Amino acid sequence: MATAVYPGRFDPVTNGHLDITRRAASLFESLVVAVYDLREGTVFSTEERVAMFQEAVGDLGNVVVKPFEGLVVDFARREGATVLVRGIRAVTGFEAEFDMALMNQKMAPEVESVYLMASLEYLYLSGTRIREVASLGYDVTDLVPPRVAEGLRRKFARAYAGRGG
Ligand code: ADP
Repeated sequence: MATAVYPGRFDPVTNGHLDITRRAASLFESLVVAVYDLREGTVFSTEERVAMFQEAVGDLGNVVVKPFEGLVVDFARREGATVLVRGIRAVTGFEAEFDMALMNQKMAPEVESVYLMASLEYLYLSGTRIREVASLGYDVTDLVPPRVAEGLRRKFARAYAGRGG
């Protein structure tokens, strides 16, 4: 049984990411969620992104959440992982993912990329879309874990206030 790494920015983690995490956790012996450590350009800090993901998967015994820098394949090697898990939503994401999988295969032939299709109900969810609608005042409570909804409300307090809740 293999260890898998699920890498992403997770800015913020959504119910779509959690769906992939739960499904991957049932396929592999252990799963390391790898949160890309970016010092700028994100709504949430690396520490916040890690903490929010950790809290949301606290019930999964074989999942750990860690920040990482540099190449995903190097992180995978350090973790002793032989699988990279990615979620795929639609044709639009496919091309970029395909490219990246081939490059990763070139750099680390021993690490296999495995793609899980997004579940129908989460097909339209992305970190980008969540940030966008939350910043404009939409309450995303049913699309993200509770702590993320709360965090977004705090970050975008003015937009929410403007819409009366
Ligand atoms: P996003 O694409 O949501 O901004 P990331 O780059 O952090 O977020 O995504 C990490 C991984 O999770 C990618 O493989 C991405 O395709 C996948 N993913 C994102 N949202 C979903 C979703 N709703 N369902 C399935 N997989 C998803």
